[in-house]
Amino acid sequence: MNISSKRSLYSLVLPGILIICASLLIWRWDSLIENVKDINEFRALLVILPMVPYILFFITTILGLRTNNIGLILVSLSYAVSYFAVNIVDINISSIPKIVLFILPLNIILFSNLKKRRFTSKTGTTCFFIMIFQIIIIWFFCYIVDNPDSRFVFDLNKEFPNVGQKLFLHSKFFFKIFSYDLIFDNIPFISILSLFTAMLILSINLVNNKNIQLAGAAGSLISAFIGISSSSVQPAMMIYFSTAGLILIITTIEASFSMAYIDELTGLAGRRSMSEAMMNLGRNYSIAMIDIDLFKKFNDTYGHKTGDQVLKMVAAKIATVSGNAKAYRFGGEEFTIIFPGKKADEAKPYLEELREDIEFTPFVVRGKERKGSSPENRGNNSFANQKTAKVTISIGVASYSKILTKPEKVLKAADKVLYKAKRAGRNKVLIQK
Ligand code: GH3
Ligand code: MG
Ligand code: MG
Repeated sequence: MNISSKRSLYSLVLPGILIICASLLIWRWDSLIENVKDINEFRALLVILPMVPYILFFITTILGLRTNNIGLILVSLSYAVSYFAVNIVDINISSIPKIVLFILPLNIILFSNLKKRRFTSKTGTTCFFIMIFQIIIIWFFCYIVDNPDSRFVFDLNKEFPNVGQKLFLHSKFFFKIFSYDLIFDNIPFISILSLFTAMLILSINLVNNKNIQLAGAAGSLISAFIGISSSSVQPAMMIYFSTAGLILIITTIEASFSMAYIDELTGLAGRRSMSEAMMNLGRNYSIAMIDIDLFKKFNDTYGHKTGDQVLKMVAAKIATVSGNAKAYRFGGEEFTIIFPGKKADEAKPYLEELREDIEFTPFVVRGKERKGSSPENRGNNSFANQKTAKVTISIGVASYSKILTKPEKVLKAADKVLYKAKRAGRNKVLIQK
């Protein structure tokens, strides 16, 4: 399992663990609170605890601003607004939690799928205004429906006799949807539908682009949803919304880690991971430098995009190298494999296996000329323009010795042998002698 899949798994499991911990905390809450003997301590808790979700969402908003992640900012604001809206419910707008349960999952799908854009970008401001607009509309309709006898509705009816009356009737009819078929006493069927849709879309996106932050969005949404559904049980709202905030914070930190340590194109560990691994090697290890043969020509023939595809495929092969080794993208079309506990000649069989594997795997590429092909040609030629290209790699290996006492020296020696392999005709594994 490589680093990136380990990280993805971690990010999927972590939200679940946090939500379970939150539920246990709520279950044991009364006995925990009994330990608070001092009345002043208790008062402080009463003041501080409901603020915790706001503090966490404030942190995630700042993280979003720092990383130019408009999606994270809007997701955080959605949770903060929902938490606020459901908390003020006792005032007299009792329909709000039901609407929030429906609208929150939809907002989370919309916002979490925003590609990284600045807050000040057009998409950013548009989405921000969509959110403000929703808040005003929801508040307005909820208020009208829940307070038919209020001064505001009375004045509205007086000013616009037809409009006011109709607005009230239509709103009431519309709101019936949100009270229809309650599951567990208070969750409308339509909001379950909206949650499932959100989870489905988030899962599909997660499978497609393995963005850890989508796992964060899904996990936090479930936590917030449970929070609103159990808003009548103190302190469930506060704990589940805090959990949502924590999930967002941790997955954002994980995503930054991935950015620093994982190569974006190939998913292999990057140069920084390699430097760290090199600092922790003992005295018995070898390092292999790998370079794709004549890759410049490949790019020239098939285009840079196809080149990237091949780079990905070659990297996927390199990642499967056995012999307890670990592969890194060194940069460009060069890779490094570190074999802890093996001399160069012990590592060689694994590298030969890899070299052959790549040599005999045909890489399916679309010809560059496809771009210029006529539309008639394009539809029925899914195979005609698909060519297979042969890709080979050259490898140089060196290991720790009395002369090569430092990993940097071993790496340099491996690089030298690599160029010997190139001069010797490419598609070869050579060992530093
Ligand atoms: P040699 O067999 O001697 O290694 O020949 P080469 O053409 O592979 O060597 P050279 O170092 O001259 O060229 C490396 C090329 O790799 C240059 C560049 O176009 C290509 N390359 C480097 N990084 C990337 C990348 O991320 N994507 C793509 N598509 N091409 C890349
Ligand atoms: Mg090169
Ligand atoms: Mg090359």
